[in-house]
Amino acid sequence: MASPETRTAAPHPAPGALVPGELLAAARPEVREALEAAIAGRELSFDQGLHLATSEGPDLQALIAVADQFRRATVGDVVTYVVNRNINFTNVCFVGCSFCGFGHGPNAPDAYSHSPEEIVRRAREAWERGATEVCIQGGLPRDLDGFFYRDVLRAIKRALPAMHIHAFSPMEIAYGIEKTGMPLRDYLRMLKDEGLGSIPGTAAEILDDRIRKELSPNKLPVKLWVEIITTAHETGIPTTSTMMYGHVEEPADWVRHIQLLRGIQKRTGGFTEFVPLGFIHEKTRLFKRGHARPGAARDEHLRVHALARVLLHGAIRNIQVSWVKLGFPGSLACFAAGANDFSGTLMEESISKAAGATHGEYVAPEELRALIRSIGRIPAERTTTYNIRQRFDQEPSAVAGVPARLQLAPVDKHVPYGEGSY
Ligand code: SF4
Repeated sequence: MASPETRTAAPHPAPGALVPGELLAAARPEVREALEAAIAGRELSFDQGLHLATSEGPDLQALIAVADQFRRATVGDVVTYVVNRNINFTNVCFVGCSFCGFGHGPNAPDAYSHSPEEIVRRAREAWERGATEVCIQGGLPRDLDGFFYRDVLRAIKRALPAMHIHAFSPMEIAYGIEKTGMPLRDYLRMLKDEGLGSIPGTAAEILDDRIRKELSPNKLPVKLWVEIITTAHETGIPTTSTMMYGHVEEPADWVRHIQLLRGIQKRTGGFTEFVPLGFIHEKTRLFKRGHARPGAARDEHLRVHALARVLLHGAIRNIQVSWVKLGFPGSLACFAAGANDFSGTLMEESISKAAGATHGEYVAPEELRALIRSIGRIPAERTTTYNIRQRFDQEPSAVAGVPARLQLAPVDKHVPYGEGSY
């Protein structure tokens, strides 16, 4: 089902060929052994993964160096991005995740909901500005019609047949099944037939029911998340995969989570990428209750991205940075720690503000390319499923179909909720 590139395991490079020997030599023996096992193409045990997940100082430097070499061996020096628009069609949600600053009650003064017509209007604007993808997710209003998701797909495809629709988290799929009473497989087939191109692997947070109870007792359990994702893959719908870190979880939870994803990928080949999502603590009940860390520090961001590259080597080819959560300096640092994809331009709210607003969640393709070049890598625009549309080995003076310069997101711009753009 997945594109051939997501199925193909990367060749394992020869150990001596790529490991900076002095970095490995400086690492603790257990970290060195784990990294050497990974280089030799062996699947790491939980304990080996945990040594890497708790690495600091010289151990962390060795992990990052190996992750960077794995990235180069797998995808080379290209850093990809997709031109897309995020459409979060409602912020009304009853689920009440404690880490979320996005969901509102239906009577809240700033509650909003977009009709399918408004969603199409936004998708059309994005298309006219060069977007190839719309990423559509929203809250879960109690009165949502279970066929609303189908109707949105139908309306967009009628207006824009070639637009890739990346939409509806496993939580939304679970809600659609509950509302319609349809079997999961039939519901997914219906969405695919109406134009669903891929599914964001959000609502994963940490795939451990004990932690999920603390973060969001009303959210779908691990078993159902896995069932929806694997059924989507079997139905020919690729998905992304995500993990939220920097809150109440511990490094052991990262290892279990990533190894669970690796196991799914071995069975289905349906993940296009893995996206670590740093917890943004401001305005969240979870942090205000004193139950969570205030997000990850810089080393933790690097450790998680590098750990993911090493544990997923030979399985998931693409490690994506979330620039809305990391900011640009943090994103660029993660490109030296195993990451290879910059996510998307995310035009939500930006188009209407492009004429002069100073805030927004958008970065122009030219800005992404300049950032990629600043670290000596090669920018390339991709499709949602990682086919390269255009490599920018040399920057053309004008890029057809893309406005000269829109708005550059502030480097510290964060999105304080768990769902979004993935
Ligand atoms: S994270 Fe999603 S499901 Fe949870 S409260 Fe926020 S909008 Fe609702």
